[in-house]
Amino acid sequence: MTILRDKFGRPMRDLRISVMDKCNFRCPYCMPAEIFGENYDFLKKDQLLSDDELVRLGELFAQLGVTKLRITGGEPLIRRNLDQIIRRWMAIPGIEDVAMTTNGYFLKPMAQKLKDSGLHRLTISLDSLDDEVFSQMNGARSSATRVLEALEEAQRVGFENIKINCVVKKGVNGHTVVDLARHFKGTGVIVRYIEYMDVGNINGWKLDDVVTADEIIAIINAEMPLVEVPPNYRGEVANRYQYADGTGEIGLIASVTRPFCGDCTRVRLSAAGEFYTCLFGKQALDLRTPLRDGSTDADVLQLISDVWSHRSDRYSERRTSFTELPTKGAEMFRIGG
Ligand code: SAM
Ligand code: SF4
Ligand code: SF4
Repeated sequence: MTILRDKFGRPMRDLRISVMDKCNFRCPYCMPAEIFGENYDFLKKDQLLSDDELVRLGELFAQLGVTKLRITGGEPLIRRNLDQIIRRWMAIPGIEDVAMTTNGYFLKPMAQKLKDSGLHRLTISLDSLDDEVFSQMNGARSSATRVLEALEEAQRVGFENIKINCVVKKGVNGHTVVDLARHFKGTGVIVRYIEYMDVGNINGWKLDDVVTADEIIAIINAEMPLVEVPPNYRGEVANRYQYADGTGEIGLIASVTRPFCGDCTRVRLSAAGEFYTCLFGKQALDLRTPLRDGSTDADVLQLISDVWSHRSDRYSERRTSFTELPTKGAEMFRIGG
């Protein structure tokens, strides 16, 4: 297979698939409740990619060099029969790793099915252990206990190396990052702190709301000393820090203060079949239409290859040079982070 490369020589390796635009949470940094009310017009069933379309795209992307799939959303566990789709993705030649990011709310009863489907890895989002703070971060949709119980069940059915995603927003949950670290220290669960990002156009992002990776490390290091360690592989998104006493590690995803575009091999597929080459991309390629109008695999492969070979995205590296933030093409809940 010839490796497809973009303008900066980056291959296409990781495909993030949003399987559902709906979500039962209303995290203000992603789906503010005042915008996403009862009557919000989410995608109808026929606008979502079907199971067969999702699998076909998995096969086509694998032919172009993708080896890792990450299932995301919206909330992926709202999608019916997800375990059956995962089984089919797992069987695709070339796909080595299938992971999922979920808010954990519906996870407990699904954990066994997901394990049986072959899903390799789970990331569960949990922004705080303090219920009042967590409630502010998720739009008052869940307690931390519910998410922790789901995590326990996932461990019980055999998921290992579970990761926790924690978005940190100044003045909201910055003071609880250390509790989260303390709770998971020594358990094998890796907490990954994410700098609040300006994805989409609706979360009202301001640089002042970002708690930087340096600040988060300083807070945790003051109580539990940390040592920076090298990445596990080239292009790893999180910066790794181990506890000096050898009881585990945390990660920092610092898209704002430590951009990592140089090694970015990620592509994104929205639940409606739009193909984005950057989280902050303005334009997308509609793949749902060719999937439905009888285009051949070769036609669709050509469309994807043309877009990737012209790709020159490096938004995060340029962010601080903008006097005004540019308009983005998609919201986080549509392309899944
Ligand atoms: N609903 C699932 C969840 O929350 O885990 C999957 C989709 S969610 C869009 C994927 C990840 O993106 C979550 O960990 C979430 O916290 C993160 N996220 C959403 N909006 C963000 C933002 N503005 N900045 C940084 N991370 C964000
Ligand atoms: Fe839903 Fe995840 Fe967005 Fe929160 S971050 S609103 S859980 S999609
Ligand atoms: Fe990749 Fe775009 Fe993020 Fe840079 S800003 S790391 S190109 S998704």
